[in-house]
Amino acid sequence: MARVLLLLPTTTYRTPDFLAAAGKLGVNVTVASEEPSTLEGLNPEGLLTLDFQDPEGSARRAVEFARGHPIDAVVGVDEDTTVAATVIAEALGLPHNPVGAAYGARHKPTMRRLLSEAAVPSPAFRVFDRGEDPGRAAKAVSYPCVLKPTFLAASRGVLRADNREEFVAAWRRIERILDDPEVVARGSLRMPPGARRSSEPSREILVEDFIAGDEVALEGLLTQADLEVLALFDKPDPLEGPVFEETIYVTPSRLPPETREAIAQVASRGALALGLRDGPVHAELRVNESGPWVIEIAARSIGGLCSRALRFGTGMSLEELILRHALRVGMPSPQRERRAAGVMMIPIPRSGILQEVRGLEKARAVAGIEDVTISIHAGQRLVPLPEGSRYLGFIFSRAGTPERAEAALREAHASLEFVVD
Ligand code: ADP
Ligand code: CA
Ligand code: CA
Repeated sequence: MARVLLLLPTTTYRTPDFLAAAGKLGVNVTVASEEPSTLEGLNPEGLLTLDFQDPEGSARRAVEFARGHPIDAVVGVDEDTTVAATVIAEALGLPHNPVGAAYGARHKPTMRRLLSEAAVPSPAFRVFDRGEDPGRAAKAVSYPCVLKPTFLAASRGVLRADNREEFVAAWRRIERILDDPEVVARGSLRMPPGARRSSEPSREILVEDFIAGDEVALEGLLTQADLEVLALFDKPDPLEGPVFEETIYVTPSRLPPETREAIAQVASRGALALGLRDGPVHAELRVNESGPWVIEIAARSIGGLCSRALRFGTGMSLEELILRHALRVGMPSPQRERRAAGVMMIPIPRSGILQEVRGLEKARAVAGIEDVTISIHAGQRLVPLPEGSRYLGFIFSRAGTPERAEAALREAHASLEFVVD
């Protein structure tokens, strides 16, 4: 029986979906996580403690482990495990992305540089050190622009500035985020030789031209550098800033076929420019009169619980598809179901302690709604962007058309009431 090593960061939402997919495929699973599990002693071949920030150390441990329990595939879940998964797969002789490509997809300035060298449309950018004078930096860039940390996800710390004053304020706000001990820890990825970076990510502030346009998200799978598009999502709520809170994703895209084709081509060129060759990619692009622009390409699948919006063939989940791909289990070309599907990442209404969510029954009863999941418990703190990093919850819909899938999400959301103290 095949064995898959699943790298699950403590913050992931996706543990149950990946475990369910592995169960359905009937493969052995070893879960690698950062914190020693109290169960480790009981089930030594099912659990492995790894420090994902130390990819080479992780690879040594995995190789040692694999002597007793051979590993057939390594799957990294979410942004924080992509580099470690790649280095481990390389050490085990399994199909993998080049380590430098995985790092490029993880570190925004490296990604921008690689895209620009390959002439893939992507915003003009500059990297500053936080020690520099923001007043001077503000004079060196053009407006509107977007400031961001170089290694975070879920739009954390991403801020638009329309003038020098806003630039300096955004810079200060990002500095405070970069001082958060949890953020410092995430920024301290130890890179193997050959993929080493020049600067310290937790000191960097990336500034990019603001690209206007409609935003889409492309979910894809790479096989020998060939990109297969699994789904293209429209993001019908305008993302204009100053913060960029994600809300609704709807697939199939309502953009004209030639625009969708152009998006797939630019995403594919982007993946190639980064050097990605194998496994899932999640790309975000903006489309305007000059065509598609790459906002980013990550070497992982869609985040949060959003993958639940996708179903392939006869009821395959995205997680099953990813595991099959990693295990090289034959599968027909994955076709997403014919129906439209949507997911809403529920916006955080304001900061405070969540007391209660009302109207769940009503929201779940809206035609086309499949599920409403709240992922922050009563009594926990809600932190809006740009500081926040957790999703309040998810609403899922399915309908005959993307319009109806979107309308169902909006109606369900309108039925919810968030009591925040
Ligand atoms: P993260 O890795 O946190 O998701 P991104 O770089 O993808 O950060 O930025 C988050 C969102 O901010 C994007 O989805 C987009 O809506 C907006 N954004 C980021 N950079 C730009 C840009 N240069 N121009 C326009 N919008 C941007
Ligand atoms: Ca990202
Ligand atoms: Ca993003």
